[in-house]
Amino acid sequence: MDCIFCNLDDSKIILENEGARAIFDIFPVNEGHMLIVPKNHIVSYFDAREEDKKYLWKLVEECKKYLDEEYKPDGYNVGINCGEAAGQTVMHLHIHLIPRYVGDIENPRGGVRGVIPEKRIY
Ligand code: AMP
Ligand code: ZN
Repeated sequence: MDCIFCNLDDSKIILENEGARAIFDIFPVNEGHMLIVPKNHIVSYFDAREEDKKYLWKLVEECKKYLDEEYKPDGYNVGINCGEAAGQTVMHLHIHLIPRYVGDIENPRGGVRGVIPEKRIY
């Protein structure tokens, strides 16, 4: 299948388990930005089975530990774009795990509310 996340190069895999792989985002929002991707081709989070979700979230936890050690961030944003209207461009489910660092933006208040930029700060 012509899907970049179904055809990941082994050299790009940072961590993996039975059902999911983790890679670094090729256009990182911040240093250490990772994507946790199911091994099965699933388009949307809402199409995933409980078993797929179990492997995904287990790997999110492991990636968080890895990033804590390697990058020592001060916080994280965790997010999933579900559907084109929500900004999804790669139609193979992936969880963004984005390390945050004090001072990386002037006022981080609102975090993921920033999907609608003018509504982020409330
Ligand atoms: P989205 O579908 O909006 O959640 O975004 C897809 C994400 O995948 C973006 O953050 C891209 O930078 C990232 N991306 C696209 N192609 C690759 C690739 N070949 N390897 C790693 N990350 C990628
Ligand atoms: Zn795929």
